[in-house]
This record gives sequence, structure tokens and C-alpha cells, in this order.
Amino acid sequence: MSRKRVVIAGLGDAGVLAAIRLARWADVVGISAKPGLVSGQELGIRLARPQEWARDYWIPFDRFRRLDGVRTIQARLTGVDLDRRRVFCEGDDGSPLTEEFDALVISTGVSNGFWRRPTLQSADEVGAELRAAHDRLAAAGSVIIVGGGAAAVSSALNLATTWPEKKVDLYFPAERALVGYHPRIWNRIRARLADRGVGIHPGHRAVMPDGFLCDEVTSEPVHWSSGQPPSCAAAVLWAIGRVRPNTDWLPPELLDERGFVRVTSNLRVPGHPSLFAVGDVAATDPQRSSARNRGDALVARNVRAGFSGRRLRPYKAPARRWGSLVGAQPDGLEVFLPSGHSFRFPRWAVDKVVMPGIVRWGMYHGVRENDPFGPFDRVLRS
Ligand SMILES: Cc1cc2nc3c(=O)[nH]c(=O)nc-3n(C[C@H](O)[C@H](O)[C@H](O)COP(=O)(O)OP(=O)(O)OC[C@H]3O[C@@H](n4cnc5c(N)ncnc54)[C@H](O)[C@@H]3O)c2cc1C
Repeated sequence: MSRKRVVIAGLGDAGVLAAIRLARWADVVGISAKPGLVSGQELGIRLARPQEWARDYWIPFDRFRRLDGVRTIQARLTGVDLDRRRVFCEGDDGSPLTEEFDALVISTGVSNGFWRRPTLQSADEVGAELRAAHDRLAAAGSVIIVGGGAAAVSSALNLATTWPEKKVDLYFPAERALVGYHPRIWNRIRARLADRGVGIHPGHRAVMPDGFLCDEVTSEPVHWSSGQPPSCAAAVLWAIGRVRPNTDWLPPELLDERGFVRVTSNLRVPGHPSLFAVGDVAATDPQRSSARNRGDALVARNVRAGFSGRRLRPYKAPARRWGSLVGAQPDGLEVFLPSGHSFRFPRWAVDKVVMPGIVRWGMYHGVRENDPFGPFDRVLRS
């Protein structure tokens, strides 16, 4: 089989991993609005300890050894011609670009809050944004976090751990937070939040200011449609899971009613054998969970199987969410399983085994050391 050309649209968490796998046998072109991986993971650590976060979750593409053979283009995707198998994009100077493909993997993710936006950004701009959000929260004596999902809970715990003197309050509408997870997980995390003095406020449904997209930290009082008096803090972090799929560049016929890319169980777009989707943008299951459940490996395998006429494999979503939830803490990394049970790596194992061995080698197949003078590392030094 001659080498095929695969375009990966969006080089975030899922796209980078898919590109790494596909690069072994295909000519891969990766198109991304960012100049490197700016991961969607671990919001709490990103806000509270951006230097620590950047070391593991903000990685220039040229540091991934397996991306050496991949051509990465920093541009904004603007359209696709399905018949002629081409994608269109625009560089930061507005210049148009066209890339042809034999297969297209759509992995443009979602927009969420101020921390996940598909804007074209230089490394300096990414760094400035990371720093600004951190500084804003560092300067606030009190913080309200609105939301009951992983991003909200992780932010509450990490802010309270990093700044024990800060008043941190978490408000969410249901009786418990982390609704998509096993109840045991919330019980455990609630105890840790309480230990760190986080105020926990179930049964609070926030009134959304008109036209507000939750994409900035605010300081106005928060009003509750659930009847309680308004709450005030110096900074309000909105993490209410109001995600918007980054699909405005795709024709509506590929999308479901909420704008996510429709896929079969094989991660293929129905009626379009050369199109696949993976990650948060792919309508695989109600949680759209393929990014964190090895969808990258499956999509890479199925793209290849599609070319060689082999049978494609199905994606099986776990019934419940799982993951580290609050990321690595000073006392180690706890990973919660769908069953609600957890196991913990001590901090030394996170630094010496998990990150260098399991993540950088096992998952990414080699990540080069930082260039201490590169623009990506300015944020680490500041
Ligand atoms: C190994 C792994 C472990 C994980 N563990 C957890 C966990 O413990 N807990 C948890 O909750 N979640 C976890 N996640 C999931 C994670 O939170 C998100 O699901 C993941 O970040 C989504 O990845 P994505 O590639 O779909 O989207 P993104 O990482 O957001 O990537 C999308 C990319 O496309 C770009 N883009 C968008 N539109 C355009 C455009 N028009 N033009 C050009 N570029 C564009 C964006 O800028 C971005 O770079 C994990 C994910 C992975 C891979």
C-alpha cells in the first residue's frame, strides 16, 4: 500500500496522540491553532500552579520525538471540500492554505470557559494568558467557583491547596458534585475539600448574566435561581461545563443537533468513509469520552484498517467517568476508577516514574527536554 496522506484537524490531547500513532505509516499533516500542545487537562493545576502545569501539559510540537515526521501547520481551519478531499485554513496573517487528504481525522475539541478557546495564539500569548488567569486568582482574597464537574472541583481543591489563606467556595446545583462519576468519588473528594476549608454549597443554580459565555473571571455578585441570597467574592470562576464544539468550519450535514460530529461506533463519520472524528468533538456517547479512553489508538487503527479494507473496531465507552480529577498533589496522584475505587501514586513516583516513564515514554513515545531559552519556557521562569 502506498503511503497515504492523513490530515489531523486539531492537535490537542487527542489529535497529538493520533498523529503520533499515524506517523509510523502515513504522511501526516497536523493543523492547529496553537504552536504546541496546550492540553485541556487539569484546569485546577493550570490556574493554581501554572509553572507545574506547563511542564506537563504545554509542550511545543518539536519536543515530541514521534512528531518529527509530521508536518505541523499553525492555522485556523475554515472549511472542507468533501468531494475533492481538501481542508481549507487561514494563517495568522490571513493567508489561505489548502491541504489535501486521503483521510481526515477531526479532533478540534470544544471551547470551554477562558481556558479552552480555538483562537490562533503565539507561544507568548499562550504564556501571557496562563499567567494572567493565575495572577487574577492569586490577587483575590476570596473565590467562588460555580460548577459541579471535574473542572470546578479540581479548581476548588487546587486553589485551596496552593493558597490556604484564601476563602474558596464551591457552588453546584445538584445534591452532590461529580454527577457523572461513582458516588464514592465525590464522598472522598468532598472530605478533601472540607479538610482544606473549601465551603461546599449544593443546591445552588446560578443565574447566567445575559449573553455571558463563561469565558472570563468575573467579580459581580452571583444570583441564584434556586432561591438563596446572592453570593459575593473578589473573583468568580465559571466552570459550568457550557462547552461548544469547535465545528463552525464543518458543513452542518456532518453534525448532530448540538453541533458535535456524528460518528459510527468505529469513529467514522456516517456516509463519509475517509472522515473520522475523535476526542471531545466526536459524538460517541453522552460523555463524549473518547479522548480519555484511548480513542486516539482506535482512530489510528481504524484509519489504517479503512485503507487496507480490514474490519474496523468499535469504540466502547465506559458507563461512568474516571480519571485523576484533581491532578498531582504535593502528596501524590490519586486515580479514580469507574467503580469508585482509587489507587494512589506517591509524589516521588509521579515525578520519577509516572510522568517520565508512563506518560512521556509510554504514551507519547519520547518527549525532548525543554529548551530553557525557548518562548514556551518563559512562563516557567517568570
Ligand atoms: C491521556 C488523557 C488523559 C485524560 N485524563 C483525564 C482525566 O483524568 N479527567 C478528565 O476529566 N479528562 C481527562 N482527559 C480528557 C480531557 O480533559 C479532554 O477530554 C481532552 O483534553 C480533549 O481533547 P481533544 O483533543 O478532543 O480537544 P483539545 O485538547 O481541546 O484539542 C482541540 C485542538 O483543536 C484546536 N482547534 C479547534 N478549532 C480549530 C480550528 N478551527 N482551527 C485550528 N485548530 C482548531 C484547538 O485549539 C485545540 O488545540 C484525558 C485526556 C487524555 C488524552
